[in-house]
Amino acid sequence: MGVDFYACNNCRDTFPDCGHYVSCECGEHWCSDECAEEEGFRREPDGFMYKGQYGEYKHSTSCGFCRQEDFSDTELLDFLIRSHNSSRAEVIDMYKESKENEGE
Ligand SMILES: [Zn+2]
Ligand SMILES: [Zn+2]
Repeated sequence: MGVDFYACNNCRDTFPDCGHYVSCECGEHWCSDECAEEEGFRREPDGFMYKGQYGEYKHSTSCGFCRQEDFSDTELLDFLIRSHNSSRAEVIDMYKESKENEGE
């Protein structure tokens, strides 16, 4: 079996799955207990009903993401793009423009 690498959801460090790390049953991973706690990770002795894409599951851990208190950058970006009624291309243009102005 090979070694897989995960990216810490909080500090973006990558780490191998053979060492110590923290993971939530929803699929998020963190490099350390500190990083996990920063994103609301906790153990749920009584279980936590997680509403996933394919139904409901009872988990024994939860974090800010599966409790829907926090969201991934991708999700937030999608929302921003939709709520501003702009397209991805427009956002790219805006980003480029801001980059160009940065150097001045
Ligand atoms: Zn980390
Ligand atoms: Zn979670």
